[in-house]
Amino acid sequence: MEKKNYKFWFVAGSQFLYGEETLKRVEADCKIIVDALNKSGRLPFEIIYRDTVKTSDGAEKIIKNANYDDDCAGIITFCHTFSPSKMWINALASLQKPWLHFHTQFNRTIPNEEIDMDYMNLHQGAHGDREHGFIGARLRKPRKVIMGHWQDEDIQLRIAKWMKSAAAAAFSRELKVMRFGDNMREVAVTEGDKVEVQLKLGWEVNTWPVGALVEKMNEVSDSEIDALMEEYHALYDFNTDDIETVRYQAREEIAIKKMMDSENCLAFSNTFQDLYGMKQLPGIATQDLMRQGYGYGGEGDWKVAALTAVMKFMGEHSAFMEDYTYDLENGISLGAHMLEVCPSLAAEKPKVEVHPLGIGDREDPARLVFEGKAGKGIVASLVDMGGRLRLIVQDIECIKPTQSMPNLPVARVMWKPAPNLATGAECWILAGGAHHTVLSYDCDAEMMRDFARIMDIEFVHINKNTTPEELEKELFLFDIAWKLKN
Ligand code: MN
Repeated sequence: MEKKNYKFWFVAGSQFLYGEETLKRVEADCKIIVDALNKSGRLPFEIIYRDTVKTSDGAEKIIKNANYDDDCAGIITFCHTFSPSKMWINALASLQKPWLHFHTQFNRTIPNEEIDMDYMNLHQGAHGDREHGFIGARLRKPRKVIMGHWQDEDIQLRIAKWMKSAAAAAFSRELKVMRFGDNMREVAVTEGDKVEVQLKLGWEVNTWPVGALVEKMNEVSDSEIDALMEEYHALYDFNTDDIETVRYQAREEIAIKKMMDSENCLAFSNTFQDLYGMKQLPGIATQDLMRQGYGYGGEGDWKVAALTAVMKFMGEHSAFMEDYTYDLENGISLGAHMLEVCPSLAAEKPKVEVHPLGIGDREDPARLVFEGKAGKGIVASLVDMGGRLRLIVQDIECIKPTQSMPNLPVARVMWKPAPNLATGAECWILAGGAHHTVLSYDCDAEMMRDFARIMDIEFVHINKNTTPEELEKELFLFDIAWKLKN
């Protein structure tokens, strides 16, 4: 999936008090910083030096332009010198883009011989950025603050992560979700207020008839299927002779993709309870679409479908997931789904297999079977609390599956949740986290927290320090705070 060429605007803060020479130095230094960040090779998008703010009008003009520029995914401010913050009030009050306050300094250390009052007047981020920080706090503007030297790798990587979250916000505001059928009957957690979701996250969630998909499937030609089968053969090992069944999945994939592409949708949901006219529940069809970056949610779960697309935008090794069953002795959760686990999680080349499906009454569907990779990750869940959305993120450690499970006919991932299985599950359940999640190796809690802040939704993080007692208090206080806030 092609990523839009988002830009980030670097805006320095200063004033006319210091004279032309100092202002020239400020601009030159900021350009060096921007150049070095771009050349680090660590940033996912380009930063553009825009200007040094010296007046209220100047600040307002830049921010208004940023607001109206679709390619601008956020602003980064730094006060090399002191920039009196009343001149930023009108500008920041109207800011609609994500904001990173980068609290840095041109020089890493204090040069003993060189330092005099001229030096002090130029290198004063230490107090210039405090004035800037105050006005951010006073205006209650959501913002990210990162402090450290601009040449440091860890600082550049943190900026890179924030940029991914900020760009994901822009991506999210343009995201369209295609629903085939409604939610699985009687399920609560997959429901939600689509008006609130569109207002906060930008997601346009609409439905199309399964019958229209079946018509589209019937139009797919043999040569289109041949071409996709060639891709399947290149990407996956075939562990079945039932080629017709796999070809039927290819037909489904081509038709779903055509329908999504014609409506500019980057995520979809369907349900095994509404497959009217379809012979198989999409298995590989859905898995191979997720590999390409499309979001997906089973059982009509359009929230997790859209969240999957957003998290895949932030980091490709992200996938729709479901907690299925536990190993209580070893503190492990086994995650899988009926069929639809994304091959971006695979530790090995996925195998194409055909097995009966215990649920529903359709033909045996072809699916990809594999083991998930080991490594650090998160699981994330978005739930509708009635009046607001809550994003719950839990740190996890994925492990190589401890058993071979030769009779399990689906892809599987095993992980140890933080702080441990029992406490982690207690906290997850207290917070109302769904059984459907997005599992990601590439996104972390800081990125998701940044995303939640930008989108103005509640964020709950279950980590190595979380206890049910503290979480219960936090949830109680958050609930009151969000009711007052919205
Ligand atoms: Mn499910």
